[in-house]
Formats: sequence, C-alpha cells, structure tokens
Amino acid sequence: MSAMNIPQSSFPRIIIIGGGFGGIALAKKLSKKEVQVVLIDKHNYHTFQPLLYQVSTGGLEPDSIAYPIRKVLQGYPNFYFRLAEVLQIDTGKRKIKTNIGEIQYNYLVVATGSETNFFGNKNIKTLGMAMKTIPQSLNLRSLILENFEQALLTDDLHERDSLMNFVIVGGGPTGVELAGALAEIKKGILPKDYPDLDTRRAQINLIQGSDRILPAMSEVASKKAEQFLEGLGVHVWKNVRVTDYDGKLVTTNNDISFNSETLVWAAGVKAVNIEGLDAKELLSRGNRLKVNRFNQVEGFNEIFAVGDVAQMETEAFPNGHPMMAQPAMQQGEHLGENLVRIVENKALKPFKYRDKGSMATVGRNKAVVDLPKFKFQGVFAWFVWMFVHLYFLIGFRNRVVVFINWVYNYIRFDREARLIIRPFKKIHQ
Ligand SMILES: Cc1cc2nc3c(=O)[nH]c(=O)nc-3n(C[C@H](O)[C@H](O)[C@H](O)COP(=O)(O)OP(=O)(O)OC[C@H]3O[C@@H](n4cnc5c(N)ncnc54)[C@H](O)[C@@H]3O)c2cc1C
Repeated sequence: MSAMNIPQSSFPRIIIIGGGFGGIALAKKLSKKEVQVVLIDKHNYHTFQPLLYQVSTGGLEPDSIAYPIRKVLQGYPNFYFRLAEVLQIDTGKRKIKTNIGEIQYNYLVVATGSETNFFGNKNIKTLGMAMKTIPQSLNLRSLILENFEQALLTDDLHERDSLMNFVIVGGGPTGVELAGALAEIKKGILPKDYPDLDTRRAQINLIQGSDRILPAMSEVASKKAEQFLEGLGVHVWKNVRVTDYDGKLVTTNNDISFNSETLVWAAGVKAVNIEGLDAKELLSRGNRLKVNRFNQVEGFNEIFAVGDVAQMETEAFPNGHPMMAQPAMQQGEHLGENLVRIVENKALKPFKYRDKGSMATVGRNKAVVDLPKFKFQGVFAWFVWMFVHLYFLIGFRNRVVVFINWVYNYIRFDREARLIIRPFKKIHQ
C-alpha cells in the first residue's frame, strides 16, 4: 500500500482533482481502461450548480441536486475516491499534498472549477451572499426566510423595507434565474405565508454593470429576459456597478443606493488554483490555467486541466471557452480519450468544442434559449430548459425527484422546501 491506502499498480496512476462536471466526465471515460484512477474531492458529492438557485428559493431540496461521487464510480475497477482537499502540487516530484497525506502521480488532471470572485472587496465578501455551493445556497435560503420572519416583528418601516429588499448583483444566468424565482415567491407565496405583512413592499433589484442582462446570450434573449423580469416586478438596473456594502447599505458607482439586508453576489467567478501550480506565467485572465489544445498545462506533458479552471485559447474562442458545464464535460470526455491514447503510445487529438447553445429561465413558462441555429423564448423554451436540466442531472432518483417537484410546484404554485433548517446569521463588523 502507498500513501492514502491506495495500492501500487502496474498501470499508470492518473489523479483527478475535482469531481465536478469535468472530473466526472473524465472518470467515466477511463472506466475499464488500463489505468489506475484516483479521484479526489473535498466533498463526497457532485453538485449540479445550475439548479442551486432553486435550493436557495425553496423549490428543490439540496439532496436532489447533489450526487455521491462514490456511487458514480461504483463497479469501476482500479478506481479510488478519497475525500480530501488538495493543498499543494509538487510538479518536480510529481506528487500532491492533501489534508490526509501525499500521493504520487504519473498524470495529474486539475478539474477544480471556479469560486466566487469578489474582485478584492472584503466587505462584500464578508457581508454579501455567494451561491456557488450547496451550503451557501442553504445559507441564502435561511437568510431570505429569516428576513421575512424578522420583518413581521419590527414596527420600523425603514428596517422592514430593508429586510424585504433583495439586491442581486450580476445579470448573468444565475442572477436572472434567482431574481425571477424571488419575484415568483413574492407574488405567489408570501401573501399566503405572511398575511399579516405587507409583502407588496418587498423588492427585488437586479443590478448589471453593462448595458444588457445575459450578456453572453443573444440580444433578443437579453431583451426578452428583461421583459419577463419586469413583468414579474423585478427592478432591472443596467450600467450600474455595486461598489460597496456595509451589511445594510449597498452603494454603487452612481447616485443610486439600496437599503438591503440581503445582497447576493453573482457578478463573477475565478478559477480555483492550487499552490505549486499557480505561478503567474501559468495563469491567464480569471486565474485560469493556460492549456494547449490537448488540455496540457503550459510547460508540462503530464499535467492537464479541464473545465472552468482551464483556459484553452482557440480561433473560435480567443478568450477561452465559456465557464459552463458543457465545455467542462466535453473537455473531460476528450481528455479521457487522449489519456488512453497516451497510455497506448498513440498521437493525441486536439479538442474542439461543440457549442450546443445556452439558456436561462426567468420563471414559470418563461425562458430564453439560444441554439446555434435557432433562438426562441417563452413557454416552449421553458420546457426545453426543464428537459435539458433533467437530462444532465446525475442519477435516476434525482431526475425523478426533481421532475415530481417541478410538476407539483407547477400545479400548486408552490415551493415547499422553504425551511430554516440551519439558521444563518450575517456577521456585521
Ligand atoms: C449558480 C450557478 C449556476 C450555473 N448555471 C449554469 C447553467 O445554467 N449552465 C451551465 O452550463 N453552467 C452553469 N454554471 C456553471 C457550471 O456549473 C460550471 O461551469 C461547471 O460546474 C464547471 O465544471 P468543473 O468541472 O470545471 O468544476 P465544478 O463543477 O465546479 O467542480 C469542481 C470540483 O472540484 C472540487 N475542488 C475544488 N478545489 C479542490 C481542492 N483543492 N481539493 C479537492 N477538491 C477540490 C470541488 O469540490 C468541486 O466538486 C452555473 C454555476 C453556478 C455557480
């Protein structure tokens, strides 16, 4: 046995750091191949991040968008999962250091994804809410519900408004979807749950730094999504940048400010780097590791990166591929095939991204879809959005549970997971 109780093998050892979209797609491709695979993740589950906003707003239980990584690997020979955080990479000695020990690799794949980028603003990092993990989504769910409970208790109108005023920063899909879900709660659930509170005063503000929301999608999708949001009563602020937050007051780069107990920061992400493989010259914009067309990290033949953490610049994508699930999965699958080619002494094939389009939902019967050849919005787009998300969810049980929840929520205009299981307290400085 070697470190971390993983046996030595005559097969080359491939270590994958991260069981996200990229890491899991890669692991699946390596099943039944003549390699030993060690997958390491600091969580024992895979998170389906596109549906985190539904956990934050009580539409889905967290368990239905998470999946045990061990279950994905069940039945794969020569596969080992270790629940650990990778702390350092020693590229010279070809080994990694984790919080449970060290282990050597023949090939290393970094698939660590990304984290919220607060662009150095410590106040927003401390007092704002991020939505990148399940625990963070549960915190947000608790805070939203606690705010309404608190609003009931105060006679101070200013304080009450501030508790019911939600500020979402970032008009990408995450911000748009969260704003739409909150608006639906305001309309359909709050008046019934809080009959003794004037919930009409609740406000949802979506703040976007540029001149349109969903900037990565088509103009028509942006326009339609904005119309949908405004129809639901969301205030969409464009060309406004949030500059600071003291836990109560959100300030911006112009004369607009917001009194709010809840600021959700969905305005950017940056790649997660690991010490030892974080030298400036290896990184591109957004901390992403520069990789070639074979996903090899610049300067290394045996270290690869896939997904959000990888910056592969091509003619079609001069700034790298979008930080989305599809590029991560496609790179993971492609790298799996290339690693087998390496083991079999065959030539590597360059990666080519097949753009399958992008989409976002604003709420019930409202979504926007940009496919490479068609763009559509509205009810049909919403059904397509639901089908695609169900299809890509990992695990049959999760698909069934999410489907049943959605049908139930649709028929009953409800979101029953509005539970304060783990109370959350903002730490005011
Ligand atoms: C709220 C939200 C909504 C989104 N909506 C969409 C959408 O609608 N469509 C879309 O295509 N994309 C969406 N995305 C983006 C998409 O989720 C990411 O692009 C995708 O998850 C990237 O996959 P990945 O494999 O690179 O990383 P991830 O899926 O993030 O996986 C990274 C894994 O690495 C692990 N890890 C990180 N560091 C370490 C370490 N040091 N040691 C051990 N383990 C580590 C993490 O625990 C994690 O499991 C959304 C993201 C968010 C946050």
